Amino acid sequence: MAARTDRTTDPALLEALLQARRGTAFFARKLNELTDAQLDGDSLLPGWTRRHLTAHIGYNARAIARLVEWAATGVETPMYASTEARNHEIEFGATLSPIALRHLFDHSAVHLNVEWRDLPEDAWHHKVKTAQGRTVPAEETVWMRTREVWIHAVDLANGATFTDIPAPVLERLLKDITGAWHTRGTDKGLVVKVTDTDLTFGHTGAEYPTIITGPLPAVVEWAAGRGHGGVTATGPGAAVPNGTVPAAPKWI
Ligand code: ZN
Repeated sequence: MAARTDRTTDPALLEALLQARRGTAFFARKLNELTDAQLDGDSLLPGWTRRHLTAHIGYNARAIARLVEWAATGVETPMYASTEARNHEIEFGATLSPIALRHLFDHSAVHLNVEWRDLPEDAWHHKVKTAQGRTVPAEETVWMRTREVWIHAVDLANGATFTDIPAPVLERLLKDITGAWHTRGTDKGLVVKVTDTDLTFGHTGAEYPTIITGPLPAVVEWAAGRGHGGVTATGPGAAVPNGTVPAAPKWI
């Protein structure tokens, strides 16, 4: 008989699973607040309606579930056959009826949750490969899903903001984003300062830094390319002293 509770007993992993489940519940709430007609409206992502976004979140759960199955069985099952296949799937999904789209979201989320729940303790360390080609332990799938559901709940553009996202999720997002800039070398001279938690990220050794400052939710919103409300910029990268906030480097 399948377990009814998580098989892992690792406290950090259980906490991470909780953030992913909360994020899924939050996305579900925002999705349920939208009428069927409102699904046709624009999301915050250029070129994507809320239908595209909902389809993407559903297919993302299925793709991540494939990685968890890979970890469980040792049989390699990639997230997506190809980038084209992923994009095609989203375009197709966006044409589904509202009820089918909502079912896609619900069923895929339940499926992923069951895969996580039933994954044996050791298998969480088994290596799988992300769509970007990174080799990661299966436990990374929890974070991969967490950031998708929380950020895309904001992208649904019906009232969710970065202030709704739990602080530990925001902090890890900021680490991810600034880490991605660093890897690409696009963070030259850019320093990010979080006023409410005293955290600093980015190119901290820069001689003439452009410093982006603000509370954690505002800084992450800016870093994720979702706007620049609540942040200020100082230094040579700001158009005028203490003025216009430059766009954040690309992240994904
Ligand atoms: Zn996404």
